[in-house]
Amino acid sequence: MRVRRVPQRKCVACQEQRPKKELIRIVRTPAGEVLIDITGKKSGRGAYLCGKASCFLLAKKNRALDRALKVPVGGEVYDTLAQEFIRVEDEFRAYQASLPDDEEEEGGGA
Ligand SMILES: [Zn+2]
Repeated sequence: MRVRRVPQRKCVACQEQRPKKELIRIVRTPAGEVLIDITGKKSGRGAYLCGKASCFLLAKKNRALDRALKVPVGGEVYDTLAQEFIRVEDEFRAYQASLPDDEEEEGGGA
């Protein structure tokens, strides 16, 4: 029987491992902007947060994105991301629902 391996990623705020499709990607673009990346396809350094508002708040509290993105992220950027997340949450859920459950990890790995 073929073993399905669901790609796991760690939320940088609460440190929980979750299937990649349940996490929302935050990307630092080559231009230095910190943005929500719903589809996970933007180029730049990425960090993952649980798809829930509480982890955006937690990330702000413990400066998790500063560390994950290796750049100082201002408090106002965290606030903007949290508000943006609320705005795009429905779109994010719809995108999640469109993904297959057994998406293969790209490039193999451990
Ligand atoms: Zn989390």
